[in-house]
Formats: sequence, structure tokens, C-alpha cells
Amino acid sequence: MAPMATLRCEMWLACTGLAAALLTGCLPSRAAGAAEFIPPPKPTATATVTAGPPAPPSTPTAPPPTATPTAVDGALFPIGTSVGGRALEVARFGSGPRELLIVAGIHGGYEWNTIALADELIERLRQDPAIVPADVALYLLRAMNPDGEARSHGADGRANDNGVDLNRNWPIDWHPDWDRTYCWNYLPISAGPHPVSEPEVAAVMQFILDHEFEAMISYHSAALGIFPGGSPPDTASHRLAAALARVSGYPYPPLDYGCEYTGQFADWTVSQGIAAVDVELTTHVDTDFEINLRVLETFLNWKP
Ligand SMILES: [Zn+2]
Repeated sequence: MAPMATLRCEMWLACTGLAAALLTGCLPSRAAGAAEFIPPPKPTATATVTAGPPAPPSTPTAPPPTATPTAVDGALFPIGTSVGGRALEVARFGSGPRELLIVAGIHGGYEWNTIALADELIERLRQDPAIVPADVALYLLRAMNPDGEARSHGADGRANDNGVDLNRNWPIDWHPDWDRTYCWNYLPISAGPHPVSEPEVAAVMQFILDHEFEAMISYHSAALGIFPGGSPPDTASHRLAAALARVSGYPYPPLDYGCEYTGQFADWTVSQGIAAVDVELTTHVDTDFEINLRVLETFLNWKP
């Protein structure tokens, strides 16, 4: 696959100095505030959420049906459950025919600021729902890896409770192992025993298959830029990345250190006909809220 299209927030080169400094600096204070990011009690609404056993390789797209989003705009509803039993919670805003998706926290507590950003965006959208155009339904998954978020705001928070990197468990270019030389390698982490082995991935996959999303943003941190999904590269995703770069100032094309990418979420999303990008926040601590308010408004009005 093309290095540029497949390079995401994994580079130890980019992370080493930044993350080391930020992690040591932020861990104590973040640990004190961690409770606010633990998912609240499951809403009473709807949702037959079943953690269930991991889907077998032959039927990677057949987990239990997802919840019907009957909740009012802005209310969190569960679409699945993590290995550790935590709800994967989505907020919907608007009910137009153009469906859009934002996913935060696929790398859990290691990138906890993406979850904090999602919560800030949800709160802003609750206050000002007119941000969402009449023809759009926006879905925002606030934390795809709540177990990692609950475990640690540091390197140990990256994987789910099975030690799996949820951005290497998708059924596209999946491999059980990869060359770690230029990739994130602070701690052992796996791609899972087979594609879609993890309940978080199965739930999000089913949620996507149950909708007709036009475009998706997956938030990461930190610093490398905006990465269009697609293996092979995808034209619509490149256009989306360029549009978001113009209003954010995030690097595009993104920085390329040569990490080998496998089983990536955005690549699978593109394989379903959905424009998809990974957006990296500037640091491991800031939410870049004003920047990402512009990203949101551009995303909501972008057409494939
Ligand atoms: Zn990441």
C-alpha cells in the first residue's frame, strides 16, 4: 500500500519526544480527572447490547443487531460493549438523509484528548444544534476504546482489554504481526487472533453496515496530520483530507516515517464506499477545540 495513505499516528519518531514529555507531564493531573471520562451508566433507552463472543473469521460482519437510534438528538445511546463491559456510546444530531460519522478514542487513553474533544463537540452541538444542516444526520462515537481510556492516560491505555490495537483488527490488509521498526512500539500490542476478533470492532462495523454513511472522521493524536483512508488510495478521501486541512492547518499531506500499516479502520471504511480520514490532534493533551469546530462545520457541509 502507498506509504502516505497508510501512515498514521504510530511513528515512534514523532511520538518519542512529544509523548515522553507530555505523558510525564500530564499523567498525574489527567489521572485525577479520569473519572469524568468513564462512560456513565447505560441509558435506559432501547439497545439490545450484547458483548457476545468474538465473531469467527468466516462471519466477521454478523454480530448482534445494533441499537435503533431512537434517542432524541444529542442523547448518548449504546451500539455495543467493550471487552471490559463498557458501553460504546453514540450521540446523533439531525435526521437528514446524508449520514456522517465521527469516531474518537480508537486508541483509548493513549489518545484520551480525542475523547475529550468528542465530549466538547457533543456539548456544543447540544447547545447549538443548528450547526447541523437540515439534510444531515451526524453520529458521533465518543470513545471506541473505553477500556483503554479507563486503564491509563498513557501508553498502557492504547490497547483494549485483550491487548489488541483496535486500529489493526479490521478485515483489510490484516496481518497477525508487522514490522515495528518505524511504528508505535512502546509496549507489546497485537492485531488480534483474526480480523474482527474484538467486540469493539464488530460493533462499530455493524453500526456502519446498518447505515449509509457518506464520510467518516477517526480522531487520533498527535501531530502527524490528516491521513486519507484507502488501500489503494481513495480520491474522495483525499479531497476530504485536503478540505479539512485548509480549515485546520493540520499537515496534509501528512508526515510519513515509513510505518507499516495493517488492518486499518479508515481503509476498511473506504472499502465500503465511504470517504474516510484519520485526523491527528496537535498534541496528546489539547483538544484543539476551536480548530475542530471549523473541521466539524466543513465536514458537515462537505459532499463526496
Ligand atoms: Zn491513534
